[in-house]
Amino acid sequence: MKFLMSLALLFTVHQFAFGQDGYIDVKKLPAPDCTGKQTMNTKFAKTSEANGVIVVVPDNPSEADKMEGMLQYYDQAGIKKESELTQEDYFKAIILLGVISDFKHWESFEIPINRMKDGFVFNNETYADKSDAIYYASENRCVYTGNSMTVIQALSGTMQYYDYMILRNGLLSEMFIHNEGPIDLDAIREANYDKQDLTYYNLFVDKKIKNLEISDSIIVDICQTMDLPLPTFKINAYCHHNPNATRLFSNFYPFAGCDVLADDMVFGTVQLEAIHVTGRNKGMISHETFHVLWEKLVSQDYGNQFFNEGIQTYYEFLKSPQKVSNAVKIQKKYPDYDILKMVTKGDSQSFWSGPGEGKNNMPISYDISGLVVKFMVENWGLDNFKRFFANPDKTEAIRTMCGVSPEQLVVNYKGWLQQFPDID
Ligand SMILES: [Zn+2]
Repeated sequence: MKFLMSLALLFTVHQFAFGQDGYIDVKKLPAPDCTGKQTMNTKFAKTSEANGVIVVVPDNPSEADKMEGMLQYYDQAGIKKESELTQEDYFKAIILLGVISDFKHWESFEIPINRMKDGFVFNNETYADKSDAIYYASENRCVYTGNSMTVIQALSGTMQYYDYMILRNGLLSEMFIHNEGPIDLDAIREANYDKQDLTYYNLFVDKKIKNLEISDSIIVDICQTMDLPLPTFKINAYCHHNPNATRLFSNFYPFAGCDVLADDMVFGTVQLEAIHVTGRNKGMISHETFHVLWEKLVSQDYGNQFFNEGIQTYYEFLKSPQKVSNAVKIQKKYPDYDILKMVTKGDSQSFWSGPGEGKNNMPISYDISGLVVKFMVENWGLDNFKRFFANPDKTEAIRTMCGVSPEQLVVNYKGWLQQFPDID
């Protein structure tokens, strides 16, 4: 019943959105409900309130470190291993987390995702690739499962406005908007994008963007400059023509809202195991590529946005001395900028809430973070900085690497700044 209904919707939606040349106008596709009133997730939350909620994981999860990373976002008291479940637990709202083949009694959760030997079946489609995963929600089940933790984690790191959301071969494949129907991302990718299979990139360039040359040299240069090994994986990267497509493929609705976006809006992001940029913006591709490489080859940022952006800006500084003098100018214009809070905490909200400068009104935190990282790398070296970056306790990490308190580090940084002449 549900399947037939979704087929009918798929047909009408696509008939409406297809242009004469086969190009699909994503602005005509339904968008999810950003208020959350019309989402399955909200219904699930209501059941959770009424019946209680538990998180269920396999007894012996594969990639246990990744599982641990995901579980830290949940109330620890509400987490149960599969073998600890009682009969009453099945009447509660259940969040299921983990690789599908790790569960012993998958069928007992009564979800329309069937397990098979090397994967799962959903809506008559088979998903057997290591990089296949699904998020699925009903009124009493909320499921993140698939064939490896990397893709499951990617799905869990995005906002769920959908009844389900599927990654196939690591690429967003389909999502179902509550009361609306499925969006077939595979069909849109096929119709609207040229695929280029490079050594280090899986590249998708919108057919409306002509003659854009993106090559592996971006990745090679970052790795050489930052003393990183060349990747043994490919990075998915999209060059979207329109911001509405960027938002669709990156599920950026929580940040960009759910209304149709103006055509001239430009943004880039890393979401769902892929880089997304709008337009012909090589600088932005390099920027986002840097983040992916650094995260996979050095460490996650553990929430400190200041050093995460700072090391990327530092890389830009190495390519352009002009950017260093611009940054110094900005730093001197804002002498009271709270660097102490940034080096110890550096949370996204404080990072983004500072004043803006330049033609894009970028938060000054970008330039200042680049200078602080430049100061640190020049004094303690890149290798030490990488170790520093990987330590989530920044106060301790500063003491270990620099031998001083964070307060003293800020004083020393301000002294170091004096070497740069005033420019007006
Ligand atoms: Zn960035």
